[in-house]
Amino acid sequence: MENTLGPVWVIAEQVDGRILAVSLQLIGRARKLAAELETSVEAVLLGDKIEEQTQQLFAAGADVVYLGNSPDLAFYQPEVYTEIIVKLAKERQPGIMLVGSTSLGRELAPLVAARLETGLTAHCIDLVLDENKILEQRVPAYGGLLSIICPEKRPQMATVARGVFPKPELDGNRTGEIVPLDVPEEIPRRIRTLEIIREELEGVPLESAPIVVAGGAGAGDLEGWREIADLAKVLNAALGSTRPVVDEGWAALETMIGQSGKMVSPELYIGLGLSGELQHMVGIADAQVMVAINNDAKSPVFEQVDYGIVDDCGEFVPVLIEKIKEYQREDV
Ligand SMILES: Cc1cc2nc3c(=O)[nH]c(=O)nc-3n(C[C@H](O)[C@H](O)[C@H](O)COP(=O)(O)OP(=O)(O)OC[C@H]3O[C@@H](n4cnc5c(N)ncnc54)[C@H](O)[C@@H]3O)c2cc1C
Repeated sequence: MENTLGPVWVIAEQVDGRILAVSLQLIGRARKLAAELETSVEAVLLGDKIEEQTQQLFAAGADVVYLGNSPDLAFYQPEVYTEIIVKLAKERQPGIMLVGSTSLGRELAPLVAARLETGLTAHCIDLVLDENKILEQRVPAYGGLLSIICPEKRPQMATVARGVFPKPELDGNRTGEIVPLDVPEEIPRRIRTLEIIREELEGVPLESAPIVVAGGAGAGDLEGWREIADLAKVLNAALGSTRPVVDEGWAALETMIGQSGKMVSPELYIGLGLSGELQHMVGIADAQVMVAINNDAKSPVFEQVDYGIVDDCGEFVPVLIEKIKEYQREDV
């Protein structure tokens, strides 16, 4: 695509007709970028029976919503969604395209980027414009923030982690233009989503938990991990993890906190057996009080938390669980 200062696009995502918070957060940031670029904010919304939801996108700051509203789009279909977005982007020439770093977004964005022959930065935690009005797509790397730019190809594409931008104030009086989209019959449908079976997640949801207990590789093994999970249970806390824990298969991907996982903002964060790598710590930047337990007194995690305890998780966690239970019994 040509180099253009076209509109800022947000690929909005809905689940069962509910617009995801990350889509609204992205529209909020798109509004800011669009104001600096003196262009408009446009959202793409695909699904079934979702016309009413366009109002929420306008209220958040979209000027135009491209609406694919069809039973054919009820479920996410990678080939169909890609084709519709690619065709539309070729026609409308957006300058920037933002996608939430959700399971859907992480698959869809590279498919679209490849077809548009443009670049894509994954898991951004900030987006700003440089002095040439090129999008700086910021990701944690090398112990700091790395800015990635896409100087020539358009659109400049980024997936953005949930929760890094605030939800914009919704203005119920804002309206905009709805542009209906066709779903072309000829799109290949080699992959079809026939049904979605939802897994009930156990415990407290990470994103809204007042207390988060997160464990890292220092858990040692599955048994050590289960102890950390028990600690979360007795504290009625949400259980979070680092990447090695997920890679080991001790916990599900949904528990991972950080750049490629979830952003959390608890009142209390307790990190056990983790080293405080930036890719994890960006996910807890908004925590109010942070505590770390690590057996290495020199671990960098201690420089980043309010309270540090040098101890072995395997020894510390069972004792802490016992003490909490005792306290809870006395408290009754
Ligand atoms: C592009 C990219 C994205 C990434 N995204 C994420 C992300 O979203 N989330 C994430 O978490 N990671 C992410 N990572 C990985 C990240 O860089 C780190 O590798 C990871 O966070 C380290 O996890 P950890 O602290 O559990 O393990 P380690 O770094 O191995 O640290 C283990 C810690 O446990 C301590 N320890 C060992 N034994 C014990 C014990 N018995 N008791 C107490 N302490 C003990 C050690 O002293 C050490 O400090 C990403 C990496 C990349 C390149």
